[in-house]
Amino acid sequence: MPVTKSYVAKSVEAMRPSGIRKFFDLAAGMEGVISLGVGEPDFVTSWSAREAAILSLERGFTSYTANAGLLELREEIVSYIHNRFDVTYDATEEVIVTVGASQAIDLAMRAILDPGDEVVVVEPCFVSYVPMVELAGGKAVTVGTRGEEQFKLQPEALKEAITSKTKALLLCSPNNPTGAQLDKEDLKAIAAIVEEHDLIVVADEIYAELAYDIPHTSFASLDGMRERTILINGFSKGFAMTGWRLGFVCAPPELTAAMLKIHQYAMMCASTPAQYAALEALKSGMSDVEEMKKDYRRRRNYIVQSFNEIGLDCLMPGGAFYVFPSIQSTGYTSDQFAELLLKEEQVAVVPGSVFGKGGEGFVRCSYASSMEQLQEAVRRIDRFVNK
Ligand code: PLP
Repeated sequence: MPVTKSYVAKSVEAMRPSGIRKFFDLAAGMEGVISLGVGEPDFVTSWSAREAAILSLERGFTSYTANAGLLELREEIVSYIHNRFDVTYDATEEVIVTVGASQAIDLAMRAILDPGDEVVVVEPCFVSYVPMVELAGGKAVTVGTRGEEQFKLQPEALKEAITSKTKALLLCSPNNPTGAQLDKEDLKAIAAIVEEHDLIVVADEIYAELAYDIPHTSFASLDGMRERTILINGFSKGFAMTGWRLGFVCAPPELTAAMLKIHQYAMMCASTPAQYAALEALKSGMSDVEEMKKDYRRRRNYIVQSFNEIGLDCLMPGGAFYVFPSIQSTGYTSDQFAELLLKEEQVAVVPGSVFGKGGEGFVRCSYASSMEQLQEAVRRIDRFVNK
C-alpha cells in the first residue's frame, strides 16, 4: 500500500528551518566566498587535548562512561567553575556532561516545562532557543533588545513579559548574535525580578571565556541565584572544540536528577574520547584559551573600527566573536543586504532578522576568521556599501 500521509509530527512540521542554513547553502555553491557567517572558532583544539583523546583510544577507553560523564571530568569542571566564576557545585549531584551546550539547553527545557509553561526568551538570540522551548511543550515569550541599549535586556521589558504562566527566563551573556555582555549590575537588576516572580533562569554562558573588557559574571554567582539557575557552559567556543560536541550543565540536585533521567534515556552519555580531551583542556589548555582570546580581541577591535569607518554603525561588543552592525543606512532589509552582498561581493553574513525581535536592520558577522580574511571582507563590504 503506498504511503498516503505525512508521518511528520505537526509540531515539527510547524518549525521553521534555521535562517542561517539558507545562507550556508547559498554560499556553498559559490567560488571565493569569505564567510563571516559561521559561529565557530577558526582555531584548532589545543594539541594537548587532542593528544589526550588519542591516548585514551590507544589505551582502549572505548566504553560508555557514567551517564553524568567521567567523574574526574565533572570534578575538573567543578574546580573550573569555582575558580573562574566563583560558583561551587557538587561533582556527584550537580553536574552533567552533555553533547554540546545544545543538548544542555534541550535537557533544561524538557526537565522544567509542563505543557503551556512560558519561558521568556531574550532576542535577538541563538536560533535554537525558541524551537527548544516549543519542542519541550513550552511557550516562548520573546522580549526584544535594542541597539540604543547595547542590546541589553531592560528590566522593565522583562517585567512586562512575565505572566502567571512564566516559569523560566532564558538568558545568554555574552550573547549570540549581538556580542552584548551583561555586567554584574545588569544581572542584579534581573535577579531581583527573577526572585520577585519566583522564576528559574536557564543561563547559557557558552561564551563566558570570551569576555574582552570586563570579566564574565555568572548568573549563578549572584546572591540567592545559584538555587534558581541552570548553568550551561561547554567547550565549543572558548576551547575551540565545536566538533567534539561537549558541554555541561550545573544545577541544584533536584534539577540535575531530573535532567539526568532524560539524559540517560536519550543520550546515555557524551562521547568518551571527547570527555578525555575536555579533561585535558581544563587541566592544561587555559593558556591556549588566553591566546585565542587575545587574538579575538584584536580582530574585534579591527572590525568594529572598520565598519564604523565604512559607515555601518557598529557597537563594541563585550564578548563572544560576533559583531552586529546596523545596515539601516543602506536602505536594504537585513535579508536583502545579506543576499546581495553574497551575490555581488561573495561575503557571507547572517541577516539579523533570523535571530528574532530587534534583529531586523542588522547583520551578524563572525570575526572568528584570520586577520587577512577579515581585511579582505572589509574591503569588499566597503565596495558594496559605498558603490
Ligand atoms: N548557545 C549559544 C548561545 C550558541 O551560540 C551556541 C552555538 O553557536 C550554542 C549554545 C551551542 O553550542 P554547542 O556547540 O556546545 O552545542
